[in-house]
Amino acid sequence: MEAKLKRADRLAAVGELSARMAHEIRNPLASISGAVQLIAQSDATCAKDKQLLGIVLRETDRLNELIRDFLEYARPTPPAKIHLDLALLIQDLTSLLKADHRFTGISVDMHIPKRTKIDFDLQQCKQVFWNLLVNAAEAMPGGGEISVRAEVISDMASGISVGDLIKIEVIDNGMGMNPQDVKNVFEPFFTTKANGTGLGLATVYRIIESHGGIILVDSKQDQGTRFTVFLPQSVGERQK
Ligand code: ADP
Ligand code: MG
Repeated sequence: MEAKLKRADRLAAVGELSARMAHEIRNPLASISGAVQLIAQSDATCAKDKQLLGIVLRETDRLNELIRDFLEYARPTPPAKIHLDLALLIQDLTSLLKADHRFTGISVDMHIPKRTKIDFDLQQCKQVFWNLLVNAAEAMPGGGEISVRAEVISDMASGISVGDLIKIEVIDNGMGMNPQDVKNVFEPFFTTKANGTGLGLATVYRIIESHGGIILVDSKQDQGTRFTVFLPQSVGERQK
């Protein structure tokens, strides 16, 4: 018992320490990036050096992204739940996705009944669906359609009284995954991308769990992927 507690304490301490380290790396990194940008812009810098400085900048950007994703994963904040309109939130994220230069030829087909409400932390909800949408877009480098649908599943149907659930699916017809990769998707640091951090879905999983929901994945290589999220329906929306 004591050994177990000690281990848990140790793990929590290591988590806290690494989150703090990551945080501390951010400031010097910002200074490096700023200084390098100034040198790169200077007339005294030759073209060849500018090219090398470009590499330094790209790599500092990448470190920044890694640290941001790591902090989101390693430092979970307790959810500040509010009554959220799912369709509005997905619409906002869709506009962001369309404006993002990394993705071209991506459209989003949304089927979410009006006034579908969930009790969720706003920032964390954006993070969950942004990660799922970006992964879907990245799985379709040649462009394609992402489908986001939601429906209320009445607990009358299942015969088990757990309260009504909201089922939300994010579906793409992109490159899909092999069965081994499917098993690993929620593992922290699992990535098949050259520039991936492998923390997106681990964070998504943790956030959904902390809101009393679950997330499932279903994927076929070269055919596409479906992520299914089940969340308790917003308390205010349940039928009496
Ligand atoms: P990252 O996007 O940084 O690689 P994620 O945690 O978001 O990290 O995803 C982990 C891995 O899961 C990805 O590298 C990819 O192999 C796989 N994956 C996630 N979403 C999809 C998807 N929609 N289609 C195909 N593969 C996916
Ligand atoms: Mg990702």
